[in-house]
Amino acid sequence: MRSDNSGMRLSNRCYAVTGLGYSAPWCVNAGFAVGDNLTLVVDTGGNALAAQTVHGYASAARPGNHLQVVNTEKHFDHIGGNGFFRERGIDVWGHVGTVRTEEDFQAEIAEFNDSIPNQARRERGEARAFFHGTHLVNPNRQIDSDTRFDLGGCTVEILLTPGHTATNLSVWVPDDEVLFTGDCLINEYLPNLDAGTPVDWQIWLESLKRIESLKPTIVVAGHGPVARGNEVQVIVDTVRRVLQESIARGYSPTANRASDPLSPPNSGAA
Ligand SMILES: [Zn+2]
Repeated sequence: MRSDNSGMRLSNRCYAVTGLGYSAPWCVNAGFAVGDNLTLVVDTGGNALAAQTVHGYASAARPGNHLQVVNTEKHFDHIGGNGFFRERGIDVWGHVGTVRTEEDFQAEIAEFNDSIPNQARRERGEARAFFHGTHLVNPNRQIDSDTRFDLGGCTVEILLTPGHTATNLSVWVPDDEVLFTGDCLINEYLPNLDAGTPVDWQIWLESLKRIESLKPTIVVAGHGPVARGNEVQVIVDTVRRVLQESIARGYSPTANRASDPLSPPNSGAA
């Protein structure tokens, strides 16, 4: 794994695993920070197969390290692979509000299936293939305030950055100036405001200020390419502008409108 401008190794300690499968055109990111003793995995992808990929890279980066996981939020694209890690005895940390039900999970699978364009594939229930071997598993370790992890020679800070959901966390690696933001930041996609209200979007603006004050040089957003250098401020400014416009208007840019009858219901699940 090379440390160039496109590789998954971002810095001395940090790696991004980008482009994990999700409902097209979305893909979702994960990553990990490697200490001398502990490797902290950030998010587990949307399904067991994504988790297998993340687990494989995280294990290979420093064999022999213990692994732990932190979820950046409660939506299934970030926690879908939790079961894969828990089945291997690996602790999964997450915000105390990350408590999903089997009904939530089955509704997610049904929504995936409904979005399949081809009727024969829809009727065949091909969404089940995407979720092969995937079991809903909530975090077994709870976070309700800012938390530090000592990975051995490397300290990582878990910061509360709510707004997209009340459960959003960011993972800051100060020595490397790398920040994993989950969906508090998004690159190239429109941020998903549909899981909240204008009150939540104001809270999200405060989280953006918090992120900015860290002055990260590399950001792994929840979705889209890794942002480096000047790109970091661009994606912060872009998300802030969308939030400010939505607060002024009173609805999100992706809200279902009466004038758009073909738009399917959106759950804001990304
Ligand atoms: Zn997401």
